[in-house]
Amino acid sequence: NAAAPGGWRLEHSYAELPAVLHEAVGPTAVKGARLVVFNEALAAELGLEAEALSGAEGAEIFAGNRLPRGARAIAQAYAGHQYGHFTVLGDGRAILLGEQITPRGGRFDIQLKGAGPTPFSRRGDGRAALAPMLREYIISEAMAALGIPTTRSLAVAATGETVWRQAALPGAVLTRVAASHIRVGTFQWAAAKRDEAVLRALTQYTLRRHFPERAGAENAALALLTGVIERQAALIAQWILVGFVHGVMNTDNMALSGETIDYGPCAFMDAYDPATVFSSIDRHGRYAYGNQPAIAQWNLSRLAEALLPLLHRVEAQAIEMANTALAEFGTQFHRHLLAGWRRKLGLFNEEPEDVILVEGLLEWMQKTKADFTNTFARIAVDDAKAEDASGSVGAVERPIVIDLEFTEWRARWIERLKRQPQSREESAQLRRASCPAVIPRNHMVEAALAAGEQGNLAPMNRLLGVLAKPFDYDFRRPEEFLVPLAAVAG
Ligand code: AMP
Ligand code: MG
Ligand code: MG
Repeated sequence: NAAAPGGWRLEHSYAELPAVLHEAVGPTAVKGARLVVFNEALAAELGLEAEALSGAEGAEIFAGNRLPRGARAIAQAYAGHQYGHFTVLGDGRAILLGEQITPRGGRFDIQLKGAGPTPFSRRGDGRAALAPMLREYIISEAMAALGIPTTRSLAVAATGETVWRQAALPGAVLTRVAASHIRVGTFQWAAAKRDEAVLRALTQYTLRRHFPERAGAENAALALLTGVIERQAALIAQWILVGFVHGVMNTDNMALSGETIDYGPCAFMDAYDPATVFSSIDRHGRYAYGNQPAIAQWNLSRLAEALLPLLHRVEAQAIEMANTALAEFGTQFHRHLLAGWRRKLGLFNEEPEDVILVEGLLEWMQKTKADFTNTFARIAVDDAKAEDASGSVGAVERPIVIDLEFTEWRARWIERLKRQPQSREESAQLRRASCPAVIPRNHMVEAALAAGEQGNLAPMNRLLGVLAKPFDYDFRRPEEFLVPLAAVAG
């Protein structure tokens, strides 16, 4: 079937699911639609025509004033544990236009976030402010460039209207692209409805959409649970390996596809510290950097609970089975994590003492408040000649302190490198492909957003250009992109 003008090829498999899972609702029109940023590369991947959509037509569509042909707008129902407390939620400000079928046969949700009230809005206004939407755009695109599964950002459109938060702020709509928006909270909603047919339909649907290789499983609920556990174990390890702190790991913000979703008060850690938190709401550090694996497992337990009625149908020992599956999360997470640390240290083979080597480095970083990204970036460009402990480390100089303890650690690491058959250069290549040279530094993001709010998009576009090549150590970037704020000020 041919695409509609603009390249739209929308399908609505989710809207075909039982009616309790969604509500029909369209976006609310705005006064002053204007495109602020448009992702041409992503548009091309989706089969959308950048030329047709990057102008006035795109502004109308991505602000929610005009639906693309073939759209069937809905808000999705879901529940969730927020900071540990169960709540009924649903898309209070997001509207799904449909699923874009890409030229390569992929299926991606196209969702407008901040497009006006829905039946789930409760007391909210259904709107979003420009700065947080630009923030989601920047960080989600940076995550994608880092090779971490994530929702993407196709566009941010200004609404020309004001949203009221603590102050009057410019409003905007983000177009989010996702493998799907099915969350742990979607299953919690289905379970809360106590209608097994709904839960079964959602389970079968999610299996087919995200785990087609498991779709024929005899025990569909168990197949889904173990599949989601596998993807989350891999995902959270990737967060830890780049110093990412999600910030709001409520069960409604955990996608079953295994993508990172819902960028709120998220950030990348500067100085290494497992207790790092960025959200001002998270006073107890529930969602701190080092707590993320434990929270992920807690969230997955909520998914298992939601699936229990189906598990019980096929298995008397359903709870034991779910617990066994959940225990696997820890095993898999640690396996992914250790494999990732080895890559960052340029190690191809495995020795039991590698854990001690990694922990030695992490403890040193924590004690000296060393910058996480810069420490690994320095290791990435270290030529691993024993005599160069504090000397030249290649193209990118990093402001990290080389003390006696680091020098000793480095000597142990170089000895370890010698106990693998690969050459120094092969090791360096692996390290440079595994240690990002740049991450979205929080002060850089904030500066770009502040300028963006004033109508100056140049800093954001420069930042996006730099973040698009995180592993390119030859790519020339100004020093300001490489260092944490403390080092800039000092
Ligand atoms: P979040 O913190 O983004 O995961 O959102 C949690 C819930 O609050 C979701 O159901 C959102 O749809 C809803 N929500 C957040 N902000 C607004 C808003 N401005 N208007 C209506 N609903 C909102
Ligand atoms: Mg959310
Ligand atoms: Mg949100």
